[in-house]
Amino acid sequence: MKVAVVGAGVVGLSTAVNILENVPGADVTVMADKFEEETTSSGAGGHFRPNLNHIDGVPKATLKRWAMDSRDHFFSLAASGASSESGTGFVSGYLLQDTPEGGVLEDIVLHFRRLSQQEMERLNFKQRYCYVYTTVITEMKKYLKWLAARIVERGGRIQRRKLSSLKELCGVYEAVVNCCGLGARQLVGDTNIHAVRGQLVKVRAPWVNMFYTSETKDGVSTYVYPHSNVVNLGGTRQVGETNLEPDLNLADDIIRRTKQIVPALEGAAIVDHWVGLRPTRTPIRIEQEVLHGNGKDIMVIHNYGHGALGITLSWGTALDATEILKTWALSRSRSKL
Ligand SMILES: Cc1cc2nc3c(=O)[nH]c(=O)nc-3n(C[C@H](O)[C@H](O)[C@H](O)COP(=O)(O)OP(=O)(O)OC[C@H]3O[C@@H](n4cnc5c(N)ncnc54)[C@H](O)[C@@H]3O)c2cc1C
Repeated sequence: MKVAVVGAGVVGLSTAVNILENVPGADVTVMADKFEEETTSSGAGGHFRPNLNHIDGVPKATLKRWAMDSRDHFFSLAASGASSESGTGFVSGYLLQDTPEGGVLEDIVLHFRRLSQQEMERLNFKQRYCYVYTTVITEMKKYLKWLAARIVERGGRIQRRKLSSLKELCGVYEAVVNCCGLGARQLVGDTNIHAVRGQLVKVRAPWVNMFYTSETKDGVSTYVYPHSNVVNLGGTRQVGETNLEPDLNLADDIIRRTKQIVPALEGAAIVDHWVGLRPTRTPIRIEQEVLHGNGKDIMVIHNYGHGALGITLSWGTALDATEILKTWALSRSRSKL
């Protein structure tokens, strides 16, 4: 069975790996017009943080299952001999909020607990609810390469190609899994997907090796995510903005906010700025439809619109898209008997 996976961000590559590993007889080609550093996925903070309140329109139980499936994948990878090559590693750190945590994190991450008043004073944390936990942070450039290598190892192909319509694939492929992120607006005419612009400042600060996330009541999210060579400072959230040029005023604001939480960032040299557009859709689209073109039908399974949690939910949603494909392939082969 010839299967095309459209998209080479974290969602497309994870889906292709899962299909190759779980759908017998699948001959997989990944096609995309952008790869590695050209994608949104490559520059993201890579923090596995199932902040499920950031996603609307999906039942909480489904979100939690996607997060737990992804957690099992990322945590076992970080604990394995492939940790360095895949860019995954355990990092401990702090979550500071004005409101209490909703009870999801403690089921999903490691060593989750609330800090005592005395600990908060020692650390000079000002917010009302402060927690400490251990999670995985993934260096996305390495991880995308690791996923692509796994696809090729399992006999999959990777092709640079820009599609104008999924119907171009009719008659050549029997199924397509559509993981095109923000490209869905043009590729399948989905007006429900939009960009939420995010900007990061990358600094050199090897002495900062814990993560910090602060969420205020008015929705401002500030974070410090250490990677092996740089520390990512964020964040910003501009709905509908698509300018990929870094805004230096916003960068100054990010630096000011992060230094308030982590004064140890004083003296950290700026290495780079990065801007990405979160592909945001309510709800995340995981569903199937049949398209007709070139006189043939093609099964389409959509998997896009992960917004602020694309890395966190990537493996769990890839498993669901794979399951839909597997069930369809099975019923198709039964009906041919
Ligand atoms: C500043 C910032 C920080 C972030 N930090 C985190 C974090 O810490 N944790 C987390 O979980 N998430 C984070 N995210 C969110 C995460 O980056 C995204 O949700 C995720 O990268 C989306 O992945 P994707 O594969 O759907 O899309 P993309 O990476 O955008 O990939 C889309 C792919 O589809 C292809 N495509 C599109 N249209 C076509 C077409 N017509 N023909 C061929 N190919 C096509 C593109 O070429 C590309 O390969 C962050 C985002 C930003 C902006």
